[in-house]
Amino acid sequence: MLVFRLVLGYYLRPFVKRQNIAKNPVVIKAVVKQRYLSDLKRVLDMARQRLIAGNWKMNGSSDSIKELLAGIHGDLDPSWKSAVLVCAPAVYLPLVSDLVAESKVAMGAQNLSEQASGAYTGEISGAMLADIKAQFVLVGHSERRSLYGESSEVVADKYNAALENGLKPVLCIGETLEEREAGTTMEVVKAQIDAVINQYGIEAIAKGVIAYEPVWAIGTGKTATPEQAQGVHAEIRAHLAQFDAQVAEETQILYGGSMNPTNAEQLLAQADIDGGLIGGASLKAEQFIAICKAAG
Ligand code: PEP
Repeated sequence: MLVFRLVLGYYLRPFVKRQNIAKNPVVIKAVVKQRYLSDLKRVLDMARQRLIAGNWKMNGSSDSIKELLAGIHGDLDPSWKSAVLVCAPAVYLPLVSDLVAESKVAMGAQNLSEQASGAYTGEISGAMLADIKAQFVLVGHSERRSLYGESSEVVADKYNAALENGLKPVLCIGETLEEREAGTTMEVVKAQIDAVINQYGIEAIAKGVIAYEPVWAIGTGKTATPEQAQGVHAEIRAHLAQFDAQVAEETQILYGGSMNPTNAEQLLAQADIDGGLIGGASLKAEQFIAICKAAG
């Protein structure tokens, strides 16, 4: 009874304050219903859609990609609500674009130039990716940072180049094993995020996706435990909230690092994990589909 009165009091409070005529049962019913519906809508609006993204890296051929996408399309259940994305090697993007044209699978690239155009031999611009209908692009994957020397500042410029061309950047961040063991995980990932915020503002973060990928878990078969991953994701969100609470609430934060059909369900069950960035397991249709199924 006490709980009921408290709940009723909560719903009627502003009304009572304004008009003080809350004794009429019809009015009470209408007010409770209206406030309940708007609260419900707010909660539903706030829910972040999950995103399951495959990063094929430098793998595949025309034939294997056709086979992989046929397998994914064949088993993708239309009732699953999560968004699905595949990030293909650049030369196969036109092929992938044709193959996913009629499906719910989105297409992304794995890298782009921070430059708009010009004498940058071998580079691919954001405008070119948009031209072949890419919707997403990974930026700052740890392999780009460590093997190709991309600094956080360059990554921030790539992030911005993606936005300027209407692409959704997936900002990959994460600590090495040494950094984790030294206790500097949060310092490292916050600095990677801040490189974008300092240069392009928190509103840039609002237009992209973050993928937390502990470097020691990528391609190693070692996964962060759901608690470890959730801990970092929650701290990332809290960090964003210091700039803008709504951006923090709405930003999708994916986990990446040896996600597979066995560990996906538990990882995806964490409150601040909004999907996965998947390398190895995205190359096998049945494994990728099993992860999509776990995401629902
Ligand atoms: C990745 O490349 O982003 C990744 C997470 O790879 P894997 O799933 O193979 O660890």
